[in-house]
Amino acid sequence: MPIILIVVCVVAFLIFVVHWAIDMFVPAEAEEKYCPSCGNVAAPKSVTPGSVLLEIMLWLFALLPGLIYSIWRRSQQRIVCPHCSNIGMVPLDSPRARAALSR
Ligand SMILES: [Zn+2]
Repeated sequence: MPIILIVVCVVAFLIFVVHWAIDMFVPAEAEEKYCPSCGNVAAPKSVTPGSVLLEIMLWLFALLPGLIYSIWRRSQQRIVCPHCSNIGMVPLDSPRARAALSR
C-alpha cells in the first residue's frame, strides 16, 4: 500500500475522532426552536444514521470502507425535533413560529 494512502487514512481517522468527540460532548444546538410538525418548542438534537459499532469495526479491520462509511454517516447527519424527529424545526422568531405560538 502506498505510504500516501496510509497517511491520508490516518489523517481522516484523526478527523473522524475529533468530530466524534465533538458530537459526543457538545450539544448540536442549544437554542430552542419550534417544530411545525408537532408544535413542540425545544432544542433540536443531532441524529446520525448508521451504527457507531459498525463504524469502529470497519476502521479497525478495513480502513477504506471505514473512511467511506464515516463520510456517509457525517453527510447524512440531521438536526431534528427531539419529540417527533421532524427535520423542519424553525427559529422561535420566525413568522411561522410566531403565528403558531400566538394562537
Ligand atoms: Zn416535532
